Amino acid sequence: MSLDPPGLLAEAAILLLAPIAGSAVGAFARRWPDDLADWARGRSRCPSCGTVLGWRDLVPLVSFLLLRGRCRHCRAPIDRAEFGVELAALVPAGLAVLLLPPLPALLVAAIGWMLLAAALVDRRTLLLPDLLTLPLGASGLVAAWAGLAPVSVLASLAGALLGFSATALIGELYRRLRGREGLGLGDAKLLAAAGAWLGPQRLPLVLLIGAASALLAALATGAHRRPEEPIPFGPWLALGFWSVALIAYVELNPAVP
Ligand SMILES: [Zn+2]
Repeated sequence: MSLDPPGLLAEAAILLLAPIAGSAVGAFARRWPDDLADWARGRSRCPSCGTVLGWRDLVPLVSFLLLRGRCRHCRAPIDRAEFGVELAALVPAGLAVLLLPPLPALLVAAIGWMLLAAALVDRRTLLLPDLLTLPLGASGLVAAWAGLAPVSVLASLAGALLGFSATALIGELYRRLRGREGLGLGDAKLLAAAGAWLGPQRLPLVLLIGAASALLAALATGAHRRPEEPIPFGPWLALGFWSVALIAYVELNPAVP
């Protein structure tokens, strides 16, 4: 966190950006893959009455609170999940701003928002869109090239390759042993993106945090879940990716006492 006036201004901007990013994340996660066209044209409609919503209905967090969670036109309740995602996007931004100078904080927050979108889509569809994982991996390479990532370009490339091949290999072994899909190519691309941002030596920790949190979540919900019901691993991999990114950037930008 930076306390001089320009730093404070930049941090306020990141925190203001968070609910806007959260609103985009939520819209993407609800609409991918079929329903992106309307949204890309900048139109949002009330799902109940179909009215095209104006800017007053679309201010993240604020509109929901002012409208008390109901459509201005037909009074139908607005999906609370939208408000929840706008609020959730504040978590990576808040932690990053607290622990990092503004520029790395913005990078870590943006990684968090991309991963939030990937996690929400994976939870709903059991798929991780290339539209998210590939740009995330490419931006890791660019950040390493620009000196903005905690790795060299070479380590970034090696991390992407290792992340993809290791996950694809584990997935293939699991498929042969158990006769069903455990880890998909989407997971492999997500771990490749983690490798591109973080380098090969941090990947075991990403996987460890991902697997441990997935296991805890499976235990916590075990009683309510049928055994054959597939568990998406993407959200937990995303959590591991983001936690290790935060740690790596904090190591790179130690707080000045
Ligand atoms: Zn309406």
